Amino acid sequence: MHEMSYCVRIVDEAIKACKENSLENVSSVYVEVGRMTACVNELLIKAFDKAKKDTILENANLVITNQDVVAFCEICNKEFKPSIENNYLCPICKGVQSRIVKGRDCIITRIEGE
Ligand SMILES: [Zn+2]
Repeated sequence: MHEMSYCVRIVDEAIKACKENSLENVSSVYVEVGRMTACVNELLIKAFDKAKKDTILENANLVITNQDVVAFCEICNKEFKPSIENNYLCPICKGVQSRIVKGRDCIITRIEGE
């Protein structure tokens, strides 16, 4: 279950952020999960529940927003959503000089608590 490795990192980062912001009781951790991570939301929540045990996140919920994959074409200087119909290439120029700019990571966007 590769979701666990993401959750271990989420928990580590969230604890660090809580210390920096003097949060002691966390109610929610908001994350943005890119579709390229191939994480399943239910498995992420299960993994989070395990990873948070005996930490200050013990009572926290994981709130997930899925992020679509977005690529940036170096030729057109435009962002596009890679799709299978275009072989994941830029739909305008069909160029191969593009890079993924969104949807690859799993990042914390907000932490709620007191
Ligand atoms: Zn292009």
